[in-house]
Amino acid sequence: MGFINNLVENMSFNIGHEEIESWQQPKIKKALHIEFATRNSSSAMIFLPIACVLAIFIMTVYSIGVHWEVFEFQPEYVLVYLAFLIISFVFHFVIKHYAKDIDKNDIKIIITTSSLAIVYLIWVSFLLFVNRNIEASIIVYSATLVVITQAIYLSPKYSALFVTVSTILFLLTNNLRNGADNMDFEASIGIIMLSLILVLVSNSRYCNRCRAVCNEVLIAQQNQQLDEMIKELQEQKTMLEKTNEELNSAYVRDSMTGLYNRWYWNKMFETTFEECKAAENLTAIYMIDVDDFKTINDTLGHTMGDKCLVAISEVLRRETKNIDNCNIYRMGGEEFVILCRDIDKANAIKLADGVLKGVQNIKIMGLNRMLTVSIGVHIQKVENHNDIEEYVVKADMAMYESKNTGKNKITLSF
Ligand code: GH3
Ligand code: MG
Ligand code: MG
Repeated sequence: MGFINNLVENMSFNIGHEEIESWQQPKIKKALHIEFATRNSSSAMIFLPIACVLAIFIMTVYSIGVHWEVFEFQPEYVLVYLAFLIISFVFHFVIKHYAKDIDKNDIKIIITTSSLAIVYLIWVSFLLFVNRNIEASIIVYSATLVVITQAIYLSPKYSALFVTVSTILFLLTNNLRNGADNMDFEASIGIIMLSLILVLVSNSRYCNRCRAVCNEVLIAQQNQQLDEMIKELQEQKTMLEKTNEELNSAYVRDSMTGLYNRWYWNKMFETTFEECKAAENLTAIYMIDVDDFKTINDTLGHTMGDKCLVAISEVLRRETKNIDNCNIYRMGGEEFVILCRDIDKANAIKLADGVLKGVQNIKIMGLNRMLTVSIGVHIQKVENHNDIEEYVVKADMAMYESKNTGKNKITLSF
C-alpha cells in the first residue's frame, strides 16, 4: 500500500514541487476545495444523468442493431436507470450541503464524491453482470469510466485508486460471467489500457485546474494588497489635505484674533476689488483704530491689551455676521479693516454705528476704562481699477479725521 501511495503521490510529474507546495497554502487549499466540491456537485447533477441516458441509448441501439431478433424492452433496466438518476441528485445535494462549510466538511466532500463514483461503478458492474449483451455492456462500462474520471475532479491519489478498483471489479465480473476458461482477453486488455490513459488524463486535468485556481487566488491576494495600498494612500492624501488646509489657514489668518491678516489683504486685493466692481451696490471700506491703546498696554499690561483686541474682533464679527460679501482684516497692531463689497448706504452707516457702540460696551474684568475706536468709512461705487488705492487712502483719511476731532467717532466719506 505504501508503494502504491508513493506511486500515486508522485504522479503529478508534470508540475514542480514548489507548485505543489503552494497548493498546500491554507488559502489556496481552501479555494481548491471549494472549486472541486462545487464542480463535483455540478458534475453529479449534469454528467452522470447524461451518462445514464447515454448508456440506455447505447444498449438499446446495440440490441436493435446487432441482436434485433432477440431485442425485447426490459422495464426493470429502466427502473434501475431511474433509480440511479435519483441517486445522482441525492449525491448532488449532499455535496452541495457540505460545500457550504468547506473547512469542517473537507473530508466528507471527498468521501461523498468517491462514494458517488463507486456507487456508479457498482451499478454498471451489476448491469454488466446481468445483461445478456456483453459487447454493449463493455461499451457502456468504458463510457461510464470515461464520464466519471472526466466529470468528477478527483486528486491523482483518489483517481488512481478509483480507476484501479473499478478495473479489477470489471475484470472480475466480466470473467466471472464468461467462465474461467473463456476469459475475454481483448476486452480486458482494452479496459486496462483505457484505465491507464484515464488516470493520466485525469491527473493532468486535476493539475491544470489546481494551477488555474492557484493563480486566481494569488491574483485576488495581490488585488487585495493593492486595494489596501490604495486605501492607505487615500488616507495619507486626506491627512495631507487637512494639514495643507491648516497651514493655509495659519498663513492667511491672524493667530490671536482669527481674522484675516495683512498678507491676505495684499494677496486678495486685486481679486477683491474686481468683485467690488462687479457688484451692483456700493463698496464700503472701514478703517478702525483703537483709541489710546498704548496706555492700556502701559497701565494694565500687554495681556489686557491682547484681551481687548480679541474682544474688539468679536464685536466686528458679530456686527458683520448678517452682512453678505463682508471681510474683516487685522492690518497690524490695533488697526482693523472691514471691506463690504456689495452694500447700500444705510446699511453701511448702520454697520459703522454698530461697531462703535459694540466696542463701547465691551466689558472685561480688570479693565477700568471704556474701550473706544475711531472709524473712517469711505462709501462709493467702484467704477474703475485705478480708483481702488484712492478709496483706501480716503478711508484712512476719514479715520484720521475721527482721531483728530476727538476720537470715539465715525467719519463718513463719499
Ligand atoms: P491713538 O489713539 O492715537 O491710536 O493712540 P494709540 O496708543 O492707540 O496709538 P499707537 O499707535 O501709539 O499705539 C499702538 C500700540 O499698540 C503700540 C503697541 O505697543 C500696541 N500693540 C500693537 N500690537 C499689539 C498686540 O498684538 N498686543 C498688544 N497688547 N499691544 C499691541
Ligand atoms: Mg494705530
Ligand atoms: Mg490707536
